[in-house]
Amino acid sequence: MAQNDQSIRVVFLGLPGAGKGTQAKTFSESAGIPHISTGDMLRAAVASGTALGARVKDVMDSGSLVSDDLMIEIIEARISEPDCEKGYILDGFPRTVPQAQALDTMLERREEKLKAVVFFDLSEEEALRRLAHRRSAESRVDDSEDTQRKRVQIYREQTSPLIAHYEGLELLQRVDAEASIEEVQERLVAVLA
Ligand code: AMP
Repeated sequence: MAQNDQSIRVVFLGLPGAGKGTQAKTFSESAGIPHISTGDMLRAAVASGTALGARVKDVMDSGSLVSDDLMIEIIEARISEPDCEKGYILDGFPRTVPQAQALDTMLERREEKLKAVVFFDLSEEEALRRLAHRRSAESRVDDSEDTQRKRVQIYREQTSPLIAHYEGLELLQRVDAEASIEEVQERLVAVLA
């Protein structure tokens, strides 16, 4: 199965504010594969008051990360669903080296491979500028400036090592995320064709 596997399994990696969600939405529609945003899944759980939501709410509000074990469990269940057969975009997972290693193991066991890991390259300064703008433009985002700084710091400490991890696996595709939405989109299509 893995030999002539046409599925498009991709990971989107990058700072908050790098445009992963925006690009994932468009690409998901054009490729006909689900956009799996762990942040959206967790926010939905919080909003609907499930047991999972109650467990993760405080951690999320503080800008910290939910535990690796829980996230790995959530992702394994999600990628096992029938709509993931043709592939999927993972947006927001993996976010730590243990999560990436767990994903590697999971895929190996399922005889599946990632097509690429797209790294949306953006400076921390630009990410913070965009997050501040989002804060003032969208009332549903109630992150304080401190929480946003914390998210960027956590990305630097815990998520940015994934760049080297996926470079080592020869999966990393770097995209300049400071370019316009349209330019980034074109580059993505080229990279994932
Ligand atoms: P996001 O919308 O991707 O920025 O995610 C919002 C929040 O959900 C994060 O700040 C974390 O608290 C939590 N979260 C989402 N994905 C993960 C993950 N893969 N590992 C740990 N926490 C996560």
